[in-house]
Amino acid sequence: MKWSVRLGRFFGIDVFLHFTFLLFFAWLGYGAYVKSGHDPVQTMHTVALLTGVFTCVILHEYGHALTARRFGIGTHDITLLPIGGVARLERMPANPRQELLVAIAGPAVNLAIILVIMIWLTLRGQPLIQDHLYVVSGSFLRALMIFNGTMILFNLLPAFPMDGGRVLRSLLAMRMPHARATRIAATIGQGVAVIFVLVGILVPKLYMLIFIALFVWIGASNEAEDAEEDSVLTGLSARDAMMTEFHVLSPDQTVQQTVKLIIKGFQGDFPVVREDGELIGIVSRQDVFRVLENETPGPVSSFMRPDPPHCAPSDALDGVMHTLRDPALTLMPVIDQGRLVGLVTSENVLELLMTRKALSRRQTPLAARPLRA
Ligand SMILES: [Zn+2]
Repeated sequence: MKWSVRLGRFFGIDVFLHFTFLLFFAWLGYGAYVKSGHDPVQTMHTVALLTGVFTCVILHEYGHALTARRFGIGTHDITLLPIGGVARLERMPANPRQELLVAIAGPAVNLAIILVIMIWLTLRGQPLIQDHLYVVSGSFLRALMIFNGTMILFNLLPAFPMDGGRVLRSLLAMRMPHARATRIAATIGQGVAVIFVLVGILVPKLYMLIFIALFVWIGASNEAEDAEEDSVLTGLSARDAMMTEFHVLSPDQTVQQTVKLIIKGFQGDFPVVREDGELIGIVSRQDVFRVLENETPGPVSSFMRPDPPHCAPSDALDGVMHTLRDPALTLMPVIDQGRLVGLVTSENVLELLMTRKALSRRQTPLAARPLRA
């Protein structure tokens, strides 16, 4: 993500701090300094607690990322924003059971943290609950426990982009088509957003809810839009959207030759095919520019993306589109009996969608249209 500082790389995933988060952190720290009457010890206590809190947020995101990895889905990075953490998964699993596990893994991490703290406090003979629970001035571990509990409750709200929205969608998708499940989940999410706005207006202390409602509303609309797209695609296969006239690269071609093809306007993205006709990789426009900027250009085989995901002509198009939502993947080769027969790109599918929408409008009977005098 832009405007971020890299904190480090753990389990093969980069963790970034967004600059708005750093500002937020500094603002909270300064606030604690002023509130404590310029007491450095009290301020350090608050800063340590904030660090603990944000570590829990990062661990929550790792819960999602590492569970997704078990299903063969990578994570581009994890970024900490003032509103929380974001793990950018390559895609969400299309299988509802897998989506459920990936979504629930985040809150499960928070629950595990609570249990560890409870066991630790019990072993040391300390009370789990005190009469006065102040997040800032109370005991460090008890405050972390309360924070993790809040995080579980908040994340399990049945609304996108919260984990609860995905949990709800995956549970529905086990019983009905994916697109319909998403539409229902998105509608429930927008209902939650409306309730947030009302509560935010009526309860002065909870005005933050209005702000959160905005995120929820946008998250729900985005998901509903994707679902709409999916439902138009239902019943179509990769064969319907693939282009069959395209250029292929051979592994020993040069970057210069690739650039010439791009400039001539053939394509931006190419499949790489060996002499015997076997697909061995893909090259995107971004790959070519990256090589030109940073590396001494070698043959295509040195900078292509090897073993790309591919599909069969009869594969359902909504599934193909699901995979293509990964921003790192720009085209999907279509393979029939070991031979490359076509390419599907997001633009192809978009054109197909527009054509189908135009046709469906045209089919409206003439009599149903208002007549002009
Ligand atoms: Zn989460």
